[in-house]
Amino acid sequence: MIEFKSVSKVYPNGTRGLNNVNLTIHKGEFVVIVGLSGAGKSTLLRSINRLHEITEGEILIDGKSITAAKGKELRYIRRNIGMIFQNFNLVKRSTVLRNVLSGRVAYHSTLRTILGLFPKEDMDLAMDALERVNIKEKAYSRADELSGGQQQRVSIARALAQGAKIILADEPVASLDPLTTKQVMNDLKRINQELGITTVVNLHFVDLAKAYATRIIGIRAGNIVFDGPVSEATDDVFADIYGRNLKDDELLGGAL
Ligand code: ADP
Repeated sequence: MIEFKSVSKVYPNGTRGLNNVNLTIHKGEFVVIVGLSGAGKSTLLRSINRLHEITEGEILIDGKSITAAKGKELRYIRRNIGMIFQNFNLVKRSTVLRNVLSGRVAYHSTLRTILGLFPKEDMDLAMDALERVNIKEKAYSRADELSGGQQQRVSIARALAQGAKIILADEPVASLDPLTTKQVMNDLKRINQELGITTVVNLHFVDLAKAYATRIIGIRAGNIVFDGPVSEATDDVFADIYGRNLKDDELLGGAL
């Protein structure tokens, strides 16, 4: 479903964000990418939908090269990829429903979406998505009236309304408290299991990664230094990923 072929990314200032990454993520997996701040997690995740351009290699989505895609083809590939951000990326002054409907924009003409004319099917999709993350009753509230956890659920609903087959979540719980963190991670996991949506999440908490992932990918200085099931991700593995003994580290104190 997602395939990295010898992918490298060098930023214009010479920083190497990714170094010859080879990786295949299959449909329905729940992959957590872990590593220190600056390791390259975000670069890796954002390369998948080309929020970051790679400088070498190729990335395939469902067998099609997103690296080579242009125009309409690129839009079609991107339509299948939902993105969840740490800061939710909602239009704060719009209603929850409008934010979720914005997930449908790629299916319609620009004029139609500027005018806010969404067909009944889109409304149904949006309401169903809100129901799936248990905040249907907030549909007509302004996005900024919601708590952080609720806003993150709105962004998950937006990805669902979009019809995403892949969800990329870049530190989705970094600005949430421990209880809300658990709720949002549970939502992501449930959607992954119920709808078979391939999910790739960046997290820096080891405990959370272990609790939710089916597969953990460890990245250090742009290199993949571990890739395997949670059962094989021992303390020694994490010490290697983080380049030091985690026992003394706050990261072990995770959010669970
Ligand atoms: P992480 O998500 O693991 O914290 P990033 O992918 O954001 O790491 O960053 C990987 C490396 O690339 C870091 O050294 C970071 O400083 C560098 N980097 C990230 N974005 C840019 C940029 N726009 N320009 C230059 N260097 C960058």
